[in-house]
Amino acid sequence: MAAERIQHSCALFGIAGHESAAYLTYLGLYALQHRGQESAGIVTSDGERTHIHKALGLVNDVFQPHLLEKLTGSSAIGHTRYSTTGSLTLLNTQPIRVSYRAGTLSIAHNGNLTNTPYLRSRMEQEGSIFQTTMDTEIILHLTARSHKTALEDRIVEALEQVKGAYSLLLLSEEALVAVRDPSGFRPLCLGEYEGAPMIASESCAFDILGGEYLRDIRAGEMLIIRNGNMESLTLPISGSETPCVFEFVYFSRPDSRIYGEKVDKVRRRLGKHLAREHPAEADIVISVPDSSNTATLGYARESGIRFEIGLIRNHYVGRTFIQPGQERRDHDVRVKFNPVEGVLKDKRVVVVDDSIVRGTTSRKLIGMIRDAGAAQVHVRITCPPVAWPCYYGVDIPTSEELIASHKNVEEIREYIGADSLGYLSLEGMLSAVGVDRAMCHACYSGEYPVPPDDKLGKQVLEE
Ligand code: SF4
Repeated sequence: MAAERIQHSCALFGIAGHESAAYLTYLGLYALQHRGQESAGIVTSDGERTHIHKALGLVNDVFQPHLLEKLTGSSAIGHTRYSTTGSLTLLNTQPIRVSYRAGTLSIAHNGNLTNTPYLRSRMEQEGSIFQTTMDTEIILHLTARSHKTALEDRIVEALEQVKGAYSLLLLSEEALVAVRDPSGFRPLCLGEYEGAPMIASESCAFDILGGEYLRDIRAGEMLIIRNGNMESLTLPISGSETPCVFEFVYFSRPDSRIYGEKVDKVRRRLGKHLAREHPAEADIVISVPDSSNTATLGYARESGIRFEIGLIRNHYVGRTFIQPGQERRDHDVRVKFNPVEGVLKDKRVVVVDDSIVRGTTSRKLIGMIRDAGAAQVHVRITCPPVAWPCYYGVDIPTSEELIASHKNVEEIREYIGADSLGYLSLEGMLSAVGVDRAMCHACYSGEYPVPPDDKLGKQVLEE
């Protein structure tokens, strides 16, 4: 549950051709803060030079007005980060900017490459020196090494060598480029504000500006924005589209639109399907705020059980408590949530949540709900058990740490101390999502659309 969350990966925002590019990017990142809270960064281009500021911390802490003023230029890309590869240091913050023979190039990445060990060891043997421990730097190296002339051709040559998940924004002095990998693992969409094209991980970033969502960037599509013109190319890389289903279950904001669908609507359907698959004899249904609020409304509507606010979340928990690390996560529960005794006392309660990761937090939260006087606690989860790690840019713990990799549902129920426990089935989840295409569900099923490679370039998992 909430405090032992599977962590988001990263957020991207970019805009081209607007005199307030840095400020608008700051606002866009602000709306996307939920996707990464460890660091934030913005690079701008004034057509001749690029300017960068990045630091560890939340968007609001990193960008003071005087710092934004220094980021001059009409094009910008920005990034917020939760580390999935590479540790938490200033060096590993994004965007990364390098100088090479054609000028400067900056990159912001959401996702994870699956052939990093192979590429990195090959490139180190060939003399490359890496400044960071991030897989993102590999894309920069490969782009800079290319002998092609046009920036987009260099990027294509680099991407032909990498595998895995990459939604990317790249900025040079003269162009802004957006790319989504052929599997489309992570979302990326196109919008417009006062005539300026914008690109963002989720459409809620356009709303904060009063901008307009235009469409998704297609899996395998590259957009090049240069001198006020926008060109769309299809990457010459094979692959079939398998976007991440967990974006609907948990990561994305309900007021966003991803993969062309409204997250709010999908999440309500998840709750409805869950109520059909796992009904409960109960007096009230409560959510673990905020990420399961919308699905809980769906559960309440379908089941006819009254929706109540039984847990209050403290939204002002400082950064200390959202940094990674087990030691700190263990303190999260009481700091983040407080049960409402007047709502819970003597009630049979359904608790709707979006995941059980290690199980330790669920156990504490259920204990708190019981201490507040609940007569029964029935836990309902809006997706199947998460039993497998993610290789595509989401920080899911190792299999050993995932409770569902070594306990069955009844054993998990017993461990967390619930009276009953029901997970939405894989079929139920996919049917509720209702997207007319294949999706990645590897963390539930172990079926990896793009298996990771080892140092020698061999697949680690069987296809
Ligand atoms: S493994 Fe899970 S979290 Fe990772 S991309 Fe696939 S569905 Fe999303």
